[in-house]
Amino acid sequence: MKPKNLIGLGLAVAMGGTLAAGAAGAQQQFVTIGTGGVTGVYYAAGGAICRLMNQTRAEHGFRCSAESTGGSVFNLNAMRQGEFDLGMVQSDWQYHSFNGSSDFEEAGAWEDLRAVFSIHPEPFTLVARSDAGIASLDDLEGKRVNIGNPGSGTQASMQIMLDALGWERSAFSLAAELRPDEHGPALCDNQIDAFYYAVGHPSANIADPTTTCGAQIVPIEGEAIDKLVADNPYYASVSIPGGLYTGNDEDIPTYGVLATLVASTDVSEDAVYNLVKSVFDNFDAFRQLHPAFTNLEPESMVSDGNSAPLHPGAERYYREQGWL
Ligand code: GLU
Repeated sequence: MKPKNLIGLGLAVAMGGTLAAGAAGAQQQFVTIGTGGVTGVYYAAGGAICRLMNQTRAEHGFRCSAESTGGSVFNLNAMRQGEFDLGMVQSDWQYHSFNGSSDFEEAGAWEDLRAVFSIHPEPFTLVARSDAGIASLDDLEGKRVNIGNPGSGTQASMQIMLDALGWERSAFSLAAELRPDEHGPALCDNQIDAFYYAVGHPSANIADPTTTCGAQIVPIEGEAIDKLVADNPYYASVSIPGGLYTGNDEDIPTYGVLATLVASTDVSEDAVYNLVKSVFDNFDAFRQLHPAFTNLEPESMVSDGNSAPLHPGAERYYREQGWL
């Protein structure tokens, strides 16, 4: 089959889902989740949620599917256009979308945005070639740096950091916009010196360049970073634990956000209630579906990282559990 046909097929499937979901009384109802790149943790998280929801389909009738996308900012825009029911988004961009701040100033506050739950921490992660002479943020000057693909929360948060540092993109000899599945191979092929990625740990995406070409995680710290964290409620100072990746044995200080799952008020209470119930009724299974989920606790997933109000379907389940 030619690529053109594949694209046509993808569109047909996506449209079929939307139409069926909108048809009142349709037997099969669909829930779609916008995630991130295929080698990231969002795609795995969406897959894990859908897997649990589909396993209990006989009880609720929803068919869940997770799609790979460009990441947080793309997901928020696509959800606002009604293209997905739910989306994985960084907690900083959930905040900005709901409040109409930062990159969402022009679009205005999205008051219909609702939080479902937060998931794993996403430390901003700077990874460099071992021969690039990059041991700190300052060493990035004049280097070839991947800043993340357009539409990613990664790139949007990187831009906020550059603004805080008072740097233009031209401070880099190259500001590449590769996707997460491309940045590791590009690093090991010596096409870039470093990449930046807002992602959960451990993840295969970071493990690959550390084992393939000895890539090193570099601290993100300094006065400008301390001020960013102090000034913004959705940032926290964190460290990436040593020993998660080959040749990276020390804890590395950085700052970061939480991954969150969001929906709009247009998504039915029934759909979100059943999604949330499928995850938390089978929480041990959920935790085992990705190593970045190992330490998750339901109560903090309900209380942390959410700046938009809870979706009524999620709230109903959390009240039943006594978590609210
Ligand atoms: N936080 C990243 C973004 O929004 C995605 C990370 C992932 O896919 O796991 O761009």
